[in-house]
Amino acid sequence: MVDVINNFLKKNLQRKERQKDSINSKIFIRKHFSEETKEKVLIAQAHRCADCKRILTVVEFDHMNGDRSDNSSSNCQALCPNCHAYKSRTSSI
Ligand SMILES: [Zn+2]
Repeated sequence: MVDVINNFLKKNLQRKERQKDSINSKIFIRKHFSEETKEKVLIAQAHRCADCKRILTVVEFDHMNGDRSDNSSSNCQALCPNCHAYKSRTSSI
């Protein structure tokens, strides 16, 4: 009988752990632009920085309106690290 209860508790715990995992992965996705969005933006900008128009060797994705929870493609632009750092510095003042 004790075994049955133990097994039941163990299964319940495993289920809870799985639910926690799926909640965490949803939060993780919400924080970033999707691969699809990033690809679309890069193609639209012809792999060039949205600001200085140089060909991007290192790409950083910027939330144009500063709202990091808004991951729509209209809020996404690809920047080189220089322009991204410059934008982040100037917009925070
Ligand atoms: Zn740039």
